[in-house]
Amino acid sequence: MTLPIWRLSGDLSKAKTLELEAALERLSESAESVPPTLSYFEQKHTPLWRVELFYAGEPEGTSVSELLHAADLDDWPYHLEALPDKDWVSHSQALLDPVSAGRFYVHGSHDKDKLEAGVVNLTVDAGQAFGTGRHETTWACLKVLDDLTAEDPQRILDLGTGSGVLAMAAHRIWSRAQVLATDIDPVAVEVTKENLRTNQCKLRRTGEEKPGVVALTADGFNDPAFRIEGPFNLIIANILAGPLVTLAGEVARVTSHGGLILLSGLLVTQIGEVMEAYEATGCRLVRQLERGEWAALLLQKP
Ligand code: SAH
Repeated sequence: MTLPIWRLSGDLSKAKTLELEAALERLSESAESVPPTLSYFEQKHTPLWRVELFYAGEPEGTSVSELLHAADLDDWPYHLEALPDKDWVSHSQALLDPVSAGRFYVHGSHDKDKLEAGVVNLTVDAGQAFGTGRHETTWACLKVLDDLTAEDPQRILDLGTGSGVLAMAAHRIWSRAQVLATDIDPVAVEVTKENLRTNQCKLRRTGEEKPGVVALTADGFNDPAFRIEGPFNLIIANILAGPLVTLAGEVARVTSHGGLILLSGLLVTQIGEVMEAYEATGCRLVRQLERGEWAALLLQKP
């Protein structure tokens, strides 16, 4: 008999989520029972992450409180529930279903044997970094990239690369380009490197003048690599409206004249404030794509 799945869930800041993950790893080493599986993801409308722990069978109160105490989360208002079988199946299915966006087909490694013909296949597993192609913002970026058939950018930056999905998509379309993929989160960069290998992308080192992708950790533009690698003919930044506005000046500065900037991660209601910041740098709107309440903006630097 398989045990019913129990889910403990709640919202946490990214820092607390990572603390919880570290506490779980520490405790799992000495645990006698099977440790829960941790999953977390970014959410719409809030900087807090959704955190879920899945247990096989009802967890003991003491093991939950021991874990939360180890992460200094004694007062966390979590929610604990047994998942009906049906819900559990649809939950995992939604995470696993492949996604099509233009010529791109993004799927998990479990679907590797069922690849579509005539499309650009990208293998990305749902894991510790954002970007399986299922979120509206990633989907919109893939769609805009798919339509940029007349362009031939030589230097491309994917800022906030997450799983590396957009950097890999760009590398597939423009195989001769030098792609730089960066993220503030070192875990995302490790995931990106793994995905680059899985997808057999060409790898290169920072400053190496040859086709391929290099991934590195950086907060915004705080790294000499941007000066070495830029100016970029195409910048992709699927972050959030806040950082997009803050980084507007630097994004525009490292874009070449005539270069394109693809912004995403903003809500339709935030288009005004984001455009204001980029128009102040002289960039103009070339295309706007909306999906649900999310928007992607394609801009050009004169
Ligand atoms: N490009 C992927 C992931 C988008 S999620 C996709 O389109 O699916 C946004 C990513 O931006 C996260 O991985 C986050 O860690 C990163 N990020 C947030 N702020 C950042 C900053 N200031 N500098 C670099 N990366 C940042």
